[in-house]
Amino acid sequence: MPMNTITEPELAWQETALCAQAGPEFFFPAPGSSTREAKQLCGACEGRVACLEYALANDERFGVWGGLSEKERLRMRRDQARGRG
Ligand code: SF4
Repeated sequence: MPMNTITEPELAWQETALCAQAGPEFFFPAPGSSTREAKQLCGACEGRVACLEYALANDERFGVWGGLSEKERLRMRRDQARGRG
């Protein structure tokens, strides 16, 4: 979930970020609470792929980014690392 308003070209996806209109509690839920609503919003977001790539590239640890929770992103990074090795 983008938290700033940097307008560099690689951050253009933030202009269509649906989460900018939603409350942060969707994307940074309390531990153990559901991320379902955030993921649903991500599913309808035009910038989902770019958002996920940004989160992976910048090692974003907290919250839902690009439709994936931190645990799911961690799993994806591990799978990618295994694939390379
Ligand atoms: S994919 Fe989800 S977290 Fe990323 S910008 Fe869109 S709504 Fe926000």
